Amino acid sequence: MSPTPAPYRGRFAPSPTGDLHFGSLLAAFGSWLLARQAGGRWLVRVEDLDPPREVAGAARRQLETLSAFGLHADEEVVWQSRRGALYQTALSRLLELDRAFHCHCSRTDLAVAAGVHRACVARPPRPDPAVRLRVPDSSIVAFDDLIVGHYRQDVARSVGDFVLRRADGYWAYQLAVVVDDADQGITDVVRGADLLDSTPRQILLQKALGLPVPRYAHLPLVLGPDGRKLSKSDASQPVDGDRPLAGLRAAWLRLGQDPAVLADCEHLPDLLARSVAAFVPTAIPAQTADARELSFASVTMAGLGAGNGD
Ligand code: GLU
Repeated sequence: MSPTPAPYRGRFAPSPTGDLHFGSLLAAFGSWLLARQAGGRWLVRVEDLDPPREVAGAARRQLETLSAFGLHADEEVVWQSRRGALYQTALSRLLELDRAFHCHCSRTDLAVAAGVHRACVARPPRPDPAVRLRVPDSSIVAFDDLIVGHYRQDVARSVGDFVLRRADGYWAYQLAVVVDDADQGITDVVRGADLLDSTPRQILLQKALGLPVPRYAHLPLVLGPDGRKLSKSDASQPVDGDRPLAGLRAAWLRLGQDPAVLADCEHLPDLLARSVAAFVPTAIPAQTADARELSFASVTMAGLGAGNGD
């Protein structure tokens, strides 16, 4: 008899480096839709691990914006800044297993190898070494993304031994995300395609720590009019929490869904209920090579024009 699959648990995990922009709304709405349609739970985790890049008040505003869009977490919001003890336990285990090591190399030392660490260069020890995961040669990781399809990376060649705890003492995203996804029982990681190439590192870490590997789905990115990815620190394009219907319609369209389904919805609960009922995951477009096809301007204008205002 095959084991009963774990009940679906998804999440949205913004870093508070600015207000939510359209790309974050897409990740929030896409992960929410997939969780709701699977009858699962949807969690929110604030990834406030990097105080130098954090914008004061951004986390609170992001949570308020999610609420304004009717996207409510099913469990209490988790804050990474309060979970150092969990990350320390995982790091100690990797050090004990000799899967991780202290590294005294500087950025300048690694510049000749385009930042890829394969072996420490001889240099006087520094008081604040980073800790890296030891990535053996030919560490090839492959997985089947639910949207992008098969993806394969030679982690040793592309990124090398990667940082788990930074020289400045802060936890690295790769370690924290793996520990938290496992601790929160996340079965499905749905996020932007900008993190596709981080996934092999996360799978290596899950295996090193003996943790389950969740399913992955990487949503298409939303690019600015100049063809560059929008980042949360690009404060020019925050989503408007006062006009949730327009924002959700635009995200719905970018997720490859039929705009007619939501065209005559005038109330947020109605729009959300209809979107869950009509959502077709297989229609989500995979990230394409041609960046300009995904222009923020064209998606937003089409979404805003697709129905009633808010
Ligand atoms: N905190 C990351 C971001 O805001 C997302 C991490 C994830 O979804 O794994 O880009």
